[in-house]
Order: sequence, then C-alpha cells, then structure tokens
Amino acid sequence: MSVRTYRPRLAPKTVRAFQTRLLDWFKHHGRDLPWRSTRDPYKILVSEIMLQQTQVDRVLDYYGRFLREYPSIQDLAAAGRSAVRESWDGLGYYARARHLHATARRVVKRHAGEFPRTLDQLMDLPGIGRYTAGAVASFAFGESAPILDTNVRRVLTRVFVRRRPSRQAALDRRLWMLAELLIPCGKAWEFNQALMDFGALMCTARNPRCSDCRLGELCAWNQAQRAKSNSTPRRRRA
Ligand code: SF4
Repeated sequence: MSVRTYRPRLAPKTVRAFQTRLLDWFKHHGRDLPWRSTRDPYKILVSEIMLQQTQVDRVLDYYGRFLREYPSIQDLAAAGRSAVRESWDGLGYYARARHLHATARRVVKRHAGEFPRTLDQLMDLPGIGRYTAGAVASFAFGESAPILDTNVRRVLTRVFVRRRPSRQAALDRRLWMLAELLIPCGKAWEFNQALMDFGALMCTARNPRCSDCRLGELCAWNQAQRAKSNSTPRRRRA
C-alpha cells in the first residue's frame, strides 16, 4: 500500500505576499503584551502555559503577579507545591501549574537552570507539547520553529486549504508543514506572533473581517465565499 505524503506546493510569489502582508499588518496592529517584551524562555513559558485554555485578558491579571512571586526559574523550582498551587489560584486547570513547577525543577536539576533550545529537548519537559515547544524556541531563541494554536490553525486553513482532507490527522500534518514553510528567514518571532494576533483580531472564528483584510486576494475561503455569493440568484425587488 502506498502512503501519500502531502507536500504543500506554494508559488514563491504567494509565500512572499503572505509573509509581507501579514508582517506589515502586525507592525501596525499587533498587540502590546507584556510577554512580548522579553526573550527570557522562563517568562515566555509562564505566559504560554497560562494562555492555554485561558483568555489573554484574564492572563494579564495573573502574569505579572506570578513573576513577582517567582522572578526566575530557580525561584519557582525552590518553591513548595502548595505555594505554587496557591499562586495559581483562580486561573483554573491546575495541572498546568503542576507541570510548570515540574518543568522548573527539571530545568534546574538536569540543565543547570539553562533552558534547552531544541524542539525535542523542550518537548521532553513536563506538559510541553509541540505548540509550546515551538513558541519557546521561536519567541525566546528566534529558532525557525512553527506554532499551531487555534488561531493559527484557522488562518492557515482558510487561506491555504482548498480541499480539506477527510482525516483530522492529515489536515494537522498539512498545517504543521505550512506553518513551518511560511516562516520568513530570521523572522520567526514576528511571524509567529503576527499569525496569532491575526487569528485573534482579524480572522476570527465567527466574524472574520474579510472586507478589511489584506490577505483577501490570497485566501481560498474568501474566494469561495465570493464565488458563492456571486452565483446566488438575487431576488428582484417588488
Ligand atoms: S479574507 Fe477573511 S477568511 Fe481570509 S484571511 Fe482574511 S479575514 Fe481570514
């Protein structure tokens, strides 16, 4: 039985247009969030773990406070379990706090307090999956590592996927490859942040702002919507 592997085939012109327009949009509309002003992998990891399952507005209330209590990975590693649980109180999904604490202890013990840089080593830490590893690698170390959260997934699917594969795993593989292929050389930080913000602010789940969108010409979903509305017979006015 042959296994067909999907390779995204995108014209270099399309890739360049997507990168340029997205980065330009981000320059003017990207959000100013506290975890964007640091390259410290520990502080970036804290934000990423908090942002799993929790809205940005809510995380803003906790992020600064948590880092004042545990300013470094060594401080968090040295804290007791119940103290960390208490600091997390109100954010919910406490397994996240447990994993973060366990990661801090592992990094201090096995890596002398220095975060590993490779995706494989990052994914070996407790509670760190492919998305979070990509976020730490690209946001802290500028590595060309893809990320795929809900927002990024939605943007890439709408713009590039004309025919959805029937199996979710096949779609996921395709999206991860796209997310990697599209990163402009040396700009992983900006590009990944831009994709997340674009999904959160423009290409939203319910009301995408297609009429103001500078990716409209490249976007398969937008073109399909237009074709549909052009082919719908208009009712005559009485
Ligand atoms: S045209 Fe609409 S669907 Fe396509 S990327 Fe822009 S906002 Fe999203």
